[in-house]
Amino acid sequence: MNERQLLMIPGPISFDPAVLRVMSTPTDSHVSAEFIELFGRALDDMLQVFLAPHGYPFVVAGSGTLAMELGLANLIEPGDRVLVIRTGVFGERFSDIARRQEAVVDEITAPLGEAPALAEVEKQLASASYKVMTVTHVDTSTGVAADAKGLAALARKHGALMVLDGVCATAGMECQQEAWGVDVYLTASQKAISVPPGLALLVASEQAMEAFRKRKSLVRSYYADWGKWLPIMDAYRGRKAAYFGTPAVNLIYALRLSLSQILAEGMEARFARHLQLSDGFKAAATALGLRQVPVRPEFGAATLTAAYYPEGVGAELLKKVADEGVILAGGLHPDIKTRYFRVGHMGPTLPSDILATVGAIERGLAALGHPVEMGAGVQAAQKAMGV
Ligand code: PMP
Repeated sequence: MNERQLLMIPGPISFDPAVLRVMSTPTDSHVSAEFIELFGRALDDMLQVFLAPHGYPFVVAGSGTLAMELGLANLIEPGDRVLVIRTGVFGERFSDIARRQEAVVDEITAPLGEAPALAEVEKQLASASYKVMTVTHVDTSTGVAADAKGLAALARKHGALMVLDGVCATAGMECQQEAWGVDVYLTASQKAISVPPGLALLVASEQAMEAFRKRKSLVRSYYADWGKWLPIMDAYRGRKAAYFGTPAVNLIYALRLSLSQILAEGMEARFARHLQLSDGFKAAATALGLRQVPVRPEFGAATLTAAYYPEGVGAELLKKVADEGVILAGGLHPDIKTRYFRVGHMGPTLPSDILATVGAIERGLAALGHPVEMGAGVQAAQKAMGV
């Protein structure tokens, strides 16, 4: 592997070298005074990043899928109704997890490249008594962003708990968890949180915790049981020692540093910067004639772009771009898997990384004999990013 490659996939991303370096700090005891302080501060900072000052934070070793399971397994009891809003493949994963918990699952599946209209969701919420509604803020398979704020308001109105998958959004796309009324906001470390893969992160609201406390049956997962982790998180937040499962000490060093970098940037500035990067890449895609999977700009995520290959071009484009040192991702949605590619632009990505990526795509297209006006994409990106 060329160490200077630019990893522009929608997670994992190119991490800040300082975040990578801190992971090589000698591993401390997970109950040392220093580590307790560091983990406690990471949990405190997480509430600021999630914009949920009164929430209950959890950090557990595992990937984003564990975060999804941590979200659903603690709220669902057999027979509970769950409404899953599907804007790509990750909604299906929510349905699978909910069914494992013996929930009765209904789905609203948006047409490819779209998010469902709020009116349609409201009608469904009014038709039955849903305990939980799940939403994928940004579905990484389609690049579609859902209206998390509007959907959270509907869930509250109809008495459902809103579980929001922020794996491809948190710390990159605005979500004011507490103000918007999101009950469980979950993510993983490897995307806009900007920490190597391996941490599941979640913040639960008071309402979610209340529903958890009222459970009549045991949580049907040992490792994902909030009852096991809550005393641990409470202890670290109170700067005391506690143990259930060994925390991923070195990843938590990285988390602590990355969260402090995120807060130093400021959440508003960070969301605005992600929009700037996204506008830049999307303007370039348009200039190069690459149609996006989201059918209208308002459905497009700020953290990644999913675009169709031009006529006569396929996955060989990604190989050409990789020859230029830029790594992009292929398709994921089964309906269009071979027809599109995905570009992540989150975390420490710089405007110049966008320009390098667009330049590599231009050269890749040209190398494949596709007619391309060299520089047109780069120029459009420069203009849209105002750099
Ligand atoms: N949700 C979304 C939106 C994702 O993009 C992903 C992974 N790309 C997941 C959930 C699952 O996360 P993980 O692969 O870390 O288990």
